[in-house]
Amino acid sequence: MPQSSSDGSSSVSDSQKALITSRDGSLCVLCGFGTIDITHVVARNSDDHRTVEWIRQVAPSLSNFRKDDASNLICLCPNHHRQFESGQFVLVPSPQVRKVMLDHELSDFAMREDLVTRGESDPGRTFPPLINEFDYIPLRGGPLCIQIHNPTPYDSSLFIFDNLDNRLCPLLHFGASHIALMAEALPHLSNVARLRGQKSEAALPEISNLLELYHRQPNRSDPTPVITVPDYEAFCADIERSNAHPSAPVLPAVPSSTPPMNPLPTQTNRGFMSNITASSSVETRGSPPGPTPIESDVSSQTEHTSDDLYVGEDVQLMEYAEEQPVTWEELQNRPRLFGGDEVGPWRFASADDICRSMTRV
Ligand SMILES: [Zn+2]
Repeated sequence: MPQSSSDGSSSVSDSQKALITSRDGSLCVLCGFGTIDITHVVARNSDDHRTVEWIRQVAPSLSNFRKDDASNLICLCPNHHRQFESGQFVLVPSPQVRKVMLDHELSDFAMREDLVTRGESDPGRTFPPLINEFDYIPLRGGPLCIQIHNPTPYDSSLFIFDNLDNRLCPLLHFGASHIALMAEALPHLSNVARLRGQKSEAALPEISNLLELYHRQPNRSDPTPVITVPDYEAFCADIERSNAHPSAPVLPAVPSSTPPMNPLPTQTNRGFMSNITASSSVETRGSPPGPTPIESDVSSQTEHTSDDLYVGEDVQLMEYAEEQPVTWEELQNRPRLFGGDEVGPWRFASADDICRSMTRV
């Protein structure tokens, strides 16, 4: 049995892996490659249990749905595993299966509502017998990639398709939860940046509609609890309450900022000032790129015409203009922001340096 706890955290047991591998013929259900990952359909991340919780509530027959159920696991090769996780494609019930699901849901729900209206108990949602027939829908074009759908125990012939839908992938046959696959697919199908193909355009409204219908429950005397928005005033009071966490006192306070002033050439910034003088008065070839000194001419920046949107002087802009420009040398000599090795040594290189080092390579 899979190790599954109530909070949804899990690890697929060896026996479960063997079961899934055997069911899918030890091959990627998509391309038939022989090196496989056991892939979760929904709730792959341990912190995402809401989809699992929702699936359990859709129908009594799904009340025991678990993250590590066989219906929530499929065999994919490492490449397709990554592509699936990043939403480059989705697997959804075939158009024929979606039609069966929709027709059944409409009549089933009408029957349940009728029972509830007559004061009888709601038997809960049922599903018609569904065949395991799924559609591959590419959602990211990328470079044209031809994929081979090898024969599996469920498919005796060989197909070639591509990730641009120029050659359609044939319908796939493997065991998985239709609901879980649709729940997983909808956010990716809804992505405005998806590849728009015949299959994705047909699937999006149908799957969106089906999942919307599966959220319904007939009018009951004991309505399904809904998540409520917290009381606004309590919410405001909560966020304004002082931080009582033990770590709060040790957090540094944000100092109130004082208007920047022109630093006088003291012991610490004398070199800094001389650099400004040097680099602003001498044009040298091969000088390092980056922030270069500018003449701070405040008076030229405080001219406002009557067309200005802002009335009066832009104090922030004036303060910025009065700040000392940072020189390349200053950047190079800047102390490291963080101690330790986590950020590595700071190193600035000029474009010339980079070009030279690349030429050497
Ligand atoms: Zn594959």
